[in-house]
Amino acid sequence: MLSASFAFPRVNNQDQMKYRTLGRTSLNVSVLGFGASPLGDVFGITDPKEGERAVQLAVDRGINFFDVSPYYGLTLAEERLGCALRGKRQKILLATKCGRYGVEEFDFSRNRVREGLEESLRRLKTDYVDLLQAHDVEFGDVNQIIGETIPEMRRLQQEGKARFIGITGYPLNVLRRIAEAVEVDTILSYCRYNLVTTDMDAVLTPFARERQIGMMNASPMMMGILTVQGPAAWHPAPPQVRELALKAAILCNRCGVSLSLIALHFCLRHAYVSSTLTGMSTAEEVEKNLSALCLQIDESQLEEIRAILAPVFNTVWPSGRPENRD
Ligand code: NAD
Repeated sequence: MLSASFAFPRVNNQDQMKYRTLGRTSLNVSVLGFGASPLGDVFGITDPKEGERAVQLAVDRGINFFDVSPYYGLTLAEERLGCALRGKRQKILLATKCGRYGVEEFDFSRNRVREGLEESLRRLKTDYVDLLQAHDVEFGDVNQIIGETIPEMRRLQQEGKARFIGITGYPLNVLRRIAEAVEVDTILSYCRYNLVTTDMDAVLTPFARERQIGMMNASPMMMGILTVQGPAAWHPAPPQVRELALKAAILCNRCGVSLSLIALHFCLRHAYVSSTLTGMSTAEEVEKNLSALCLQIDESQLEEIRAILAPVFNTVWPSGRPENRD
């Protein structure tokens, strides 16, 4: 149980954004990044006007890094982000993805990667992205990704359509295997460094740091698990993870603190990750999450929360082709 003395986190008003260079790229990204998957109604229906307000507020408050994919809402998130970013493109750094186009629809071939980026650029109303990432590489043939996908992405970079290229996925070893075999500028890992699971630091971080590969940590709230409202029905985590996270969220709520903000703050303190990407689609969420930048947490209280979650520490679930799983 959280102690009765569990204090309100102190938040001051100077939530000024900080920026970090993403590995060897020249991208100076905000430590809090805007994950645009909720704009594609991935977690529930989003009001497009409210989504635009969220993007506007984020830009005004110094969030300069936006991550999206044609997969999110089957192109809806890119469409909506493209509209919301009208007139703001030069103020921000934009990342999208290629290779994943549906729940079961993957195509990492040379032609599809090229066509996919052209389609994304049209939806995003721009003629280049700052970062193009091969999306969820564990669902692809690793040899194809190394020998065909990444080389084609490099050609797109040479043509000026993407400033840098990277890979994303859930299993850690396959991300590392690919980055060992072929040069990538960035790696985005999700749900592997948060209040429940920290194995990203055992497998990926030392390697990425040594090679100066830029790292992004996505899903600090474990795709909605570490929120009081809980995750969407499709969430792959085992039931015990959901149950204990809900228990922690309710206890935090009773004590006047937000588990989500503590979870985000925990990730923002990471020493190597350049940007922590959280999914947002309302101005209220943006406002709240900005406050995590200057949250002050008593370490013993953080440990109390982690103790609640300890029975499910480092729980992972299968993702991708059997040969690519951890
Ligand atoms: P997340 O863990 O932060 O979860 C987002 C969920 O939490 C949404 O339902 C959102 O409404 C809710 N939320 C956000 N702030 C909240 C708050 N203060 N209080 C309560 N609830 C809050 O992040 P995510 O969306 O899973 O991931 C963030 C982004 O990272 C994605 O949008 C995407 O851009 C990227 N991502 C990429 C991959 C990949 O490439 N394979 C995988 C996962 C995420």
